[in-house]
Amino acid sequence: MKYIGAHVSASGGVENAPVRAREIGATGFALFTKNQKQWTAPALSEESIALFKERCAEYGYPAASILPHDSYLINLGHPEPDGLAKSRASFTDEMSRCQQLGLDRLNFHPGSHLDAIPVDECLSRIAQSINMALEATSGVTAVIENTAGQGTNLGFRFEHLARIISMVEDKSRVGVCIDTCHAFAAGYDFKGASEDSLFGGAEDIAMTAADVKGAVVLRGYEKIISRFDETVGLKYLKGMHLNDAMKPAGSRVDRHSPLGEGEIGPALFESLMKDPRLDGIPFILETPVPDLWPVEIARLRGWAGC
Ligand SMILES: [Zn+2]
Ligand SMILES: [Zn+2]
Repeated sequence: MKYIGAHVSASGGVENAPVRAREIGATGFALFTKNQKQWTAPALSEESIALFKERCAEYGYPAASILPHDSYLINLGHPEPDGLAKSRASFTDEMSRCQQLGLDRLNFHPGSHLDAIPVDECLSRIAQSINMALEATSGVTAVIENTAGQGTNLGFRFEHLARIISMVEDKSRVGVCIDTCHAFAAGYDFKGASEDSLFGGAEDIAMTAADVKGAVVLRGYEKIISRFDETVGLKYLKGMHLNDAMKPAGSRVDRHSPLGEGEIGPALFESLMKDPRLDGIPFILETPVPDLWPVEIARLRGWAGC
């Protein structure tokens, strides 16, 4: 069983998200539990929480089918004390909101070094930020998303994700979300023939995105899934974002395309849907044409057979 949906709008209240998910034929969904462009938000009302839970139960959306996403402003690896403190407070608040809604995971982008601290120091700050949020909440897993390696964002290598996890104290509440566009842009070329490139390995962990621009890390679906399993572990995979990519493999540019219309092409998405190792998690479209979501979801569900 795979849960398949899109990142739907929660405007007017989180309780509207499951309604919108159902309208597009989704069996899972993503949402923001607050305005993603603001630092603070009013607390969720009791009414909103109750209605959200009621609708998820009624429409058949268990916690495992829902992948909430945090605010884009948060940088859990921030080099400055003020920015770091603000990010940590906001992230803990987002984790609490998920807990209130009965959700079991929160997806977030790991953080950026802003050219002010070394890669490893930034990864360590991110892990400490996760430890603090886990300490302050319960029942919600912190789900780190891989990035395209745009600008100074970290998390574009599987090794970054593994390093962060290694420093998280409660390993039962940390996980990973793989975004297909980000992985491709970061040099994981799913559509190529199965082969290794010369670039790669844990020793390169300190390299920044600028150092590796244009480099392909690995080619081939099986190679990439196996490398992920060896480096991070498939048991940590708590969701995926399904996006095609507007720019070529290794571009380090985060621009999503509708499925099958970008540089990746449809074969990857069919392989993912037919891969039994990836059962039980939400697959979320963040493709740029919401009018296409019903068609994209139907196609994915057809491949997955559910
Ligand atoms: Zn994503
Ligand atoms: Zn993206």
